[in-house]
Parts: sequence; C-alpha cells; structure tokens
Amino acid sequence: MDTAIRDILQRSQRILAICHVNPDGDALGSLLGFGWALKEMGKETALACADPVPPFYQYLPGHEEIVQQPVGEFDLVVSLDCSDAQRMGDSYRDEYRRLPLLNVDHHVTNLRFGTFNLVDLEAASTAEIIFLMLDELALPLDPPIAQCLLTGIVTDTRGFRTASCTPRVLSIANRLMAAGASLPEIVSRTLDRRPLAAIRLWAQALPGAQLRGRVLWTEVTEAMRAATGLATVDDSGLVNFLLTAEEADVAVVFSEKNGGQEVEVGFRARPGWDVAQVALALGGGGHMLASGVTVRGTLPEVRERVLALLDESLAAQERAHRIT
Ligand code: 5GP
Ligand code: MN
Repeated sequence: MDTAIRDILQRSQRILAICHVNPDGDALGSLLGFGWALKEMGKETALACADPVPPFYQYLPGHEEIVQQPVGEFDLVVSLDCSDAQRMGDSYRDEYRRLPLLNVDHHVTNLRFGTFNLVDLEAASTAEIIFLMLDELALPLDPPIAQCLLTGIVTDTRGFRTASCTPRVLSIANRLMAAGASLPEIVSRTLDRRPLAAIRLWAQALPGAQLRGRVLWTEVTEAMRAATGLATVDDSGLVNFLLTAEEADVAVVFSEKNGGQEVEVGFRARPGWDVAQVALALGGGGHMLASGVTVRGTLPEVRERVLALLDESLAAQERAHRIT
C-alpha cells in the first residue's frame, strides 16, 4: 500500500464502501471485513451492494448493515472486487463521482478507474488485499473480520483449489483461522450447499450441453428457471461443474435474463488458457481462468457471437503457444 492510499484512508472520516453487483463470497467478505476494520479505526462507514445479499451468505457478521442505496455525505468511496466502475451498479450514485475513489481489486481486467488504485494481480481474492492492508495498518484481527475475510479467500479459491492459491494465501488463511474464523462453517455454507432448485435447474440444462472443439457449453433459459422456481441468476456452480469434463478445456454457460433481452455469460478455463480477454472484449471482465459478461441480445444471437469470438481467441492462443 503506498503512502497516498494510507493517507487518504487515515484522513477520511466518512467512508462509503461498495462491492460488485450480483455479489459473491469475495465481494461480500471483503466488503464486510473492510467495514469491520473501518469501525475499529473509528470511522463512520456505510456498506453498499446494488443487489441483495443471497440467503446463504447471511451467516456473515454484519450482513444486515449492507444497503442497496447509500444515504448521507462521504469523504471517500472505496470499490471492492470491481474491475470497472459499472460493476458497482446503482449504489455508485452520480453525486459520488466528484469524491475520491479508491479501487481495491485483483482482476487482471481491472481498468484502474480509481483516483487511487490498489490492484494486486497476485492476490487470489480481494479479501487477501484487505488482510494485507489491515496488517500494514497494524489493526488487530477479531473473529468477525477473520470470518468475513476467510470467506472471500475460500470462495474465490473454491476451497484452496485454484491456480491462484499461493503459499501466501495459505499462510493468511492460517492466521485468519487462528484469529477465530471457522473454515468448516464457511465451506459448508458456501461451497457444499445450494438450493434444491439449483440442482433441478442443472438437470434441465445439462442434457443440452454441447462440445465444440474443446469448448463445452450449455444454456439456461428463463423458462427453465421459472419451472424450477430459482429466481436469481448465479450459474457459477454449473459452469465449474462443466469444466470437470475431461474432454473440455473451456466451459461456458449462457443464462437468459431480463425477459430474454440479455444473456449472462460465465466462462471457465483450465490452466494454460485465458478467458479474461474474450470477456473484456465483450465489455465484461474477470480472471484468466474465470470470467463473465452480460451481453444484450437473444440467447441464440449471443451464443453464436460469443462462441465465434471464443473460437478465434482460443485459436490465437494456440498459435502463440506453438511459436513460444
Ligand atoms: P462468475 O462466473 O463466478 O459470476 O464470475 C467469474 C469472474 O468473472 C468473477 O471474478 C467475476 O467478478 C467476473 N465477472 C463476472 N461477470 C462479470 C461482468 O459482467 N463484468 C465484469 N467486469 N466481470 C465479471
Ligand atoms: Mn474476487
């Protein structure tokens, strides 16, 4: 953390922190871990997310304090786990655009949109960056902070299994457990649990899975969602599952939303491939091995366009591999 970032954090008294829309464990864990730490520093804080906290994250201490629309005056806005300013959604109101913005993130596609940018591409999660920040500020860890930050680490590494999981991640996890975080509780709440409706939705989406070269893809229609009663769009479990197919190097799930006008696309890749660039080219973002974007258009239109772009991108990567 450079001195300008340390100074702005110490000088600002009223801080608004915002995580990304459609929040995952790292968005919420880093938002709440940071929020608890700001309280310890004696700051007035507001925590915001443009979408509600999903029920299975409601074990996180302090989740009930998160608002969709912040109110009040602030000296500083902090974005967490967002690779561009649009990821803050409606929580980042127009009137906040004149305030200094601190961008804390770990996505390779981060657009450095802040007045200050604390972007660490080596970090497996934004929660890890928050941990290092608290360590530098010599703030004590307590069980609520530890539980929130370990949630971010566990969910973004899918239980310490991703290529991003470094020795540093494991030693930070060690310190968070020693400070009172419960690894079994986090794993059972986030990784090993999903609504039955999600499983029924997979049962409908899996028969349509198609292999195109080394890309395994399927789609989730709004009709399937209506039939299972699963209202929210979070198909990351499904796309992770597709990538376990031996025949696939890349998996894609296309999920219809907003009355068929938009499609949310989730990409996953095996190490050695890069799906961040194709997501970025479409206006989204993410990591080399896990990325996403929402594209306007009908399901068949978006599917054809995205699969063609993906083919081109993978072919270019293959050529580059052969040369190097
Ligand atoms: P998931 O498929 O789990 O929703 O997302 C995988 C990764 O891609 C996450 O790191 C997430 O932040 C990023 N991502 C997903 N959707 C979008 C999007 O619409 N825009 C951007 N910038 N990133 C996204
Ligand atoms: Mn993250």
